[in-house]
Amino acid sequence: MSSLFAGHEPREIGATGRYALVSVERGIERAGASGEPDSTLAYRADDPLLAVGDRVRVPLGRGNTPAEGIVVGLGGREVLGELDPARVKPMLARLGPSVRPDLLDLARWISDYYICPLGMVLGAMVPAAAKRGPRVVRVTLLSPTPPADAERLLADPKIATKPVLKAWGVIASLNAGDFPCTAKALVEAGVPRAGVKRLVAAGLLAERMEERPRASGPSGLTATDSPPSGPAAAPSVELTPEQRGVVEGVVATLGTFAAHLIRGVTGSGKTEVYLRVIEACLRAGKRAIVLVPEIALTPQTAGRFVHRFGGSVEDGGWGVGAVAVLHSGLTPAQRAAQWAACADASSPVRVVVGARSAIFAPVEDLGVIVVDEEHDGSYKQDQLPRYHARDVAVKRAHLARCPVLLGSATPSLESFANADAPPGGAAKYALWTLPRRVGGASLPRVEIVDLADERRARAQSDGWRDRHLHLLGPTLEAALDRTLAQGGQAILLLNKRGYANHICCPDQRCGWVMHCADCDATMVFHLALGRAPDHAGDAGAAPHPRRPGYVRCHHCLAEQRLPALCPLCRKTVNTFGQGTQRVEEEIERKFGQTRGLRTGSTLVRVDADTMRSAQDYFDALDRFARGEARVLLGTQMIAKGLDFPNVSLVGVVNADTALALPDFRASERTFQLVSQVAGRAGRGTEPGLVIVQSLSPRAPSIVLAARHDYEAFAREEISFRQRAGLPPAARMARVVCRDEDYAKALTHAGEVWRALQSALDALGPAAGHTRLRPPTACPIARIARHHRIAVEVYASTRGVIQRVLQDARSRGLLRSDARTAVDVDPIALL
Ligand SMILES: [Zn+2]
Ligand SMILES: [Zn+2]
Repeated sequence: MSSLFAGHEPREIGATGRYALVSVERGIERAGASGEPDSTLAYRADDPLLAVGDRVRVPLGRGNTPAEGIVVGLGGREVLGELDPARVKPMLARLGPSVRPDLLDLARWISDYYICPLGMVLGAMVPAAAKRGPRVVRVTLLSPTPPADAERLLADPKIATKPVLKAWGVIASLNAGDFPCTAKALVEAGVPRAGVKRLVAAGLLAERMEERPRASGPSGLTATDSPPSGPAAAPSVELTPEQRGVVEGVVATLGTFAAHLIRGVTGSGKTEVYLRVIEACLRAGKRAIVLVPEIALTPQTAGRFVHRFGGSVEDGGWGVGAVAVLHSGLTPAQRAAQWAACADASSPVRVVVGARSAIFAPVEDLGVIVVDEEHDGSYKQDQLPRYHARDVAVKRAHLARCPVLLGSATPSLESFANADAPPGGAAKYALWTLPRRVGGASLPRVEIVDLADERRARAQSDGWRDRHLHLLGPTLEAALDRTLAQGGQAILLLNKRGYANHICCPDQRCGWVMHCADCDATMVFHLALGRAPDHAGDAGAAPHPRRPGYVRCHHCLAEQRLPALCPLCRKTVNTFGQGTQRVEEEIERKFGQTRGLRTGSTLVRVDADTMRSAQDYFDALDRFARGEARVLLGTQMIAKGLDFPNVSLVGVVNADTALALPDFRASERTFQLVSQVAGRAGRGTEPGLVIVQSLSPRAPSIVLAARHDYEAFAREEISFRQRAGLPPAARMARVVCRDEDYAKALTHAGEVWRALQSALDALGPAAGHTRLRPPTACPIARIARHHRIAVEVYASTRGVIQRVLQDARSRGLLRSDARTAVDVDPIALL
């Protein structure tokens, strides 16, 4: 260090000599001097009020580009390490709300565990709109001056004019509790508008300005909306002995960390259990977070929480009651207002209900976290930070020392394995089972029909004359007809969008199949009746004579018009395969005349193409709930959490859609999807029937789902995964290297592989049975022109995987960036 007397200016700058370490959201990460990954930058902290967790704007790089970040450390020169204080820049500004210390700890864990720069984690924790803080409205509040002052003022005849005395008379008749209030409220109470002004001018009414977050209208889900339906909605409902057992078991752990898994069949009253646990939590003066999958976050689900906890608390000018609801249908301003209300200890919010990112809700005094439908894939974020909200929920509960409650009819095998005690050991999670539906309703009868038999039967009955492609076989068709004749409602599931997913040349000798130019995937045909989009780049292609519509790649979203002719042999192209649009067309063809089914009114299709917004989705479900729509047809969007008592038939148009995917969870997903959608049937007084069409009617996932036998499925599948060394028997991480240049992607993957291999070698015998899979092309080898090559690590424990990844990361050989997707505990393997 240079001496003060060396002829230079003193180098200590800044009034306090304080420095801040800032994690910028842009997610810079370099190998730190200490060997630890370092994503923080140092700045001068001249603002004496600056605290850890504050959001700040700082200059970045040579051009001093403004960037936002969070202060993660504060101190004197020691925080600078080797850095020359003279080169440390001052920060630009302190911004909106800060990150609470407990959430900062959670962010650090996510950054370490999921190999993501800390700044990016912090950036993802707060909704964009909430970062700037809620927009505020200024309200002017009025209250009368103290009686002694008022008496003195009114003694002055110049003040005590007739209108003033009259207005004052009204004020005096009001209760003390009515103040402070707005001028509008006084006018409504009978004070003349001019009188209010006179009283203020005379000093008889005192004015005070107050700032409140702007509520920007209702959140779309308020206590008065959507009164909940279903048998278990009333608060007075009697718990079954099983439900009571779970509630008591979970409530006994309030105030400590404990993880609970409830496996409850569909309709077994899991939500009522959550509500009772939350009630106990609120009585203890604590707050709660409830996560539900985005798709299940309907007014129906949220309404039950709002109804139970939100109805009693007045709006209070915050735009939220006791329940804050965070869903994708909110405007940014509404989201910011809900978020601010969560963070404000003086707001009435006691319960936060939301999708994945609600796990980061800045709730103080957290008493319990509930994760409903914990098996749901939407809890895993597929971009940075690639966290799993269920696992983050368990960590957050651990940090907050409170219980976490995971619930599902079909728990993920990861959670089920955690709740299963190893021989001679204790399970990590407590397991609770609700084996029966509430109110004596029985589980629906599930009939599996072999699609091959169905096709043969139909062909024989009409002597092979029918040239139509039938997605509904005779059995499902007859059941649907019966249901409609009896006035019932039906739900039909096909987990494929569009009209046809196979566009090809009719001539088998030619063999042309339409692929996306930029992906290793076939194009999907979407029917567009009354819409002929002009797609750039295919102006020369003539429209198809029979099929108005366009083809789309479901991976890169490229679109073009359906070509009329095979580019190789000029024959008219065929569209094969299935999709929800084709089912919709078939249902209308078969039941339009006889049962009056009309697309868009009595027949509603729910998939990502028809549902452009959360409101579309809510409206569609509402039409079905009110009985206006008779048939609800859709993708997995309709398989979750919906409770419609009049649904007596559920049809799975093709149970095999997930089964053929090259993913070791294909069987688990199929079991979950069939079980979940089957669970929508027979929730009222009528017994339900489920018809599952399949080309693999003997697949265990389908057979056991039909028998409602989760446990047999889970045990069989877990033992298979054990033999194969796959999760949950092992932990897994996957690194996907992407590049437009294949050779570069391969070289990069090779580097990653060698880095992990050397980290593994360094571990020695501690590595145990760790396997490192050499660079391999992903099942979808190219997406949006980028080649994709994966390196996978499997280890017996989480600790080993973490040590291998952290070692490579700290040497700067593994970082999450645009070319490298590091996915710890991946759930998508395509
Ligand atoms: Zn594509
Ligand atoms: Zn051809």
